[in-house]
Amino acid sequence: MSDLSDLYQEVILDHYKRPRNAKAPAGANREAEGYNPLCGDRLRVFVKLVDDVVEEIGFEGTGCAISQASVSVMTEALRGKTREEVQALFRRFQDLVTGEGEEPDLDELGELAAMSGVKEFPARVKCATLGWHTLLAALEKGSTVVSTE
Ligand code: ZN
Repeated sequence: MSDLSDLYQEVILDHYKRPRNAKAPAGANREAEGYNPLCGDRLRVFVKLVDDVVEEIGFEGTGCAISQASVSVMTEALRGKTREEVQALFRRFQDLVTGEGEEPDLDELGELAAMSGVKEFPARVKCATLGWHTLLAALEKGSTVVSTE
């Protein structure tokens, strides 16, 4: 088990140091801003949504390693997914980081599973889910500002 958490830690550090998709993609037609006042994390998530499919996704942000790594992993996981698939994956991710709900299917979650250690630190759940809340706001409303509070 500790090997697994070492691996997860590496994934998080890697994404924090070399964030993926850390820019607004060309042709983005949805965006939202997210803020987590408890930690000071700030994110802006950009999506190019075509026929209800996430064709491109990117972000800009500042904040703690958990928030930045989590949104980076999220962008890698969601390209090509429909809005419904994104919402379903978000529910699984939330179960994963809160330790509630169904036992997570780690294969299905892929690199998202690296955030599973967050369940030991309830105060960091908002850091880990900020990118998702911001993304969902972008998908629902087009352009808006969300706060975890
Ligand atoms: Zn944070």
